[in-house]
Amino acid sequence: MTKNHDEPWRTGGEHQAPARPRQWEQQPEHPHSTPPGLEPRSTPSVTPATLKPLVECPTCGKAAGDELSCQFCNQVLFLPRGITLSTAGLRFGGYILEGVLIICTLVIGWAIWALIVFQYGQTPAKQLLHMRVIYIPQARTARWLRMAFREIIAKTIIGFLAAVTFLIPYFWLLWDRNRQELWDKMSTTLVVSDREDQLQPQPSDSQAGTPQA
Ligand SMILES: [Zn+2]
Repeated sequence: MTKNHDEPWRTGGEHQAPARPRQWEQQPEHPHSTPPGLEPRSTPSVTPATLKPLVECPTCGKAAGDELSCQFCNQVLFLPRGITLSTAGLRFGGYILEGVLIICTLVIGWAIWALIVFQYGQTPAKQLLHMRVIYIPQARTARWLRMAFREIIAKTIIGFLAAVTFLIPYFWLLWDRNRQELWDKMSTTLVVSDREDQLQPQPSDSQAGTPQA
């Protein structure tokens, strides 16, 4: 602790020494004994508990923060590696392709096709573009009922809203962090690119233990 050369009353054997230690103990902050910069009280207290943990992106390895997707490579953090948020360009391209498909199939063909692929979290255009709708709370593809709600009810409501607001809601994904459209907000979904169809639901639903090809 305290070295002997700082306590001459112990080594020198002086007669008046015993009175001094008490004064030193009462004044621990002696101006000459503490170097500047080592004052513990001047240091602002940092509470690590308030700092948010940074999730490391499994694809690019960067600190991805606490968002749903990596801001650097668009990897969706709660889904398998390689599943990324679809780009805005692909989303808008999908809208155009959807329109083309509806016209070319005289609506009814598209409708039948859609009712089949809803169970895979897809629409006809999304199936062709290897895109998929994800139900966020359960980290899986959206199922038939949610897709029907999203594609029919939610898009109809947002369509009416867009008609009176200069179509602005259709461009919502451009400034949304997770590229959600308003019908995604209503359905708690986001749209991903699943190029290798990793998220294709299996009829046996026995994906556990199955090695990824
Ligand atoms: Zn990343």
